[in-house]
Amino acid sequence: MKEFQHRNVLVKGVSIGGIESSYILPHFKVAFDFGRCPDDLIDVPTIFLTHGHLDHSAGIAYYFSQRSLKNLPEGKVYVPAAIKKPIRKILKLWHKIEQFEYKIQVEGINHHQKVEIRKNVFIKALPAFHRIPAQGYVLLEKKRKLKKEYIALSGRKIEKLKKQGEDIFEEREIPLFCYSGDTDIRFLENNKEAQQAKVLLLECTYIDDKRPPERAHKWGHIHLYDILDRLDLFQNEKIVLIHFSKRYKANYINKILSEKLPAKYSSRFISWPQL
Ligand SMILES: [Zn+2]
Ligand SMILES: [Zn+2]
Repeated sequence: MKEFQHRNVLVKGVSIGGIESSYILPHFKVAFDFGRCPDDLIDVPTIFLTHGHLDHSAGIAYYFSQRSLKNLPEGKVYVPAAIKKPIRKILKLWHKIEQFEYKIQVEGINHHQKVEIRKNVFIKALPAFHRIPAQGYVLLEKKRKLKKEYIALSGRKIEKLKKQGEDIFEEREIPLFCYSGDTDIRFLENNKEAQQAKVLLLECTYIDDKRPPERAHKWGHIHLYDILDRLDLFQNEKIVLIHFSKRYKANYINKILSEKLPAKYSSRFISWPQL
């Protein structure tokens, strides 16, 4: 597994387009997608699935069965609401095949729905645009912040206002981390939280003219050129490009990125193979 850290967001994962995708946030005890269920995933109690393609979902039955073998609590899995029923069904079929019934917990989650994973930390599903029902996820931290109109005031004045009982704070949800899953570029265009998350993991399946943007769009994926055309949308501190097609070697990805990406963006963008 590779690791990436920015601020308090540590990401461990595997990422090969069409082969395997799974990302763990160990500090938050949460993960996104199963891939083929890497060993480290088994200990993560809460998993959010982006969509049903097997490179993202294949490990789900193995995940539940391994947790049962290790005597861990059953684990909680959130899947796009549209596939909750078939996912439960296939897990029940595995029970029959294995003639052993391990506990499962599968909940559906709709676009824009939020789940609290610990006090003041939420995961919210964001609409994605793929060939089958799909969604990305953003991790939001709720914080009390000074209202904008008070930011310029000195510490003493703020103390005074507080003593007077003035309501100078407001609750804000800070998007710390966002993961696109598989999608076309509308995921970035349509979701403000994807543009603002401190760390954004964004799929970038194709990168050159041999697999042109039209082909990427046909399969519900992002082409590097889509990203280059929309650089002004990215307010993120770090953008990690993921899910590259396995046809590209790491050196080639890095060469194309350094050629095409304007210099002023190069410190914020990184590709998963570069980690
Ligand atoms: Zn995929
Ligand atoms: Zn997919």
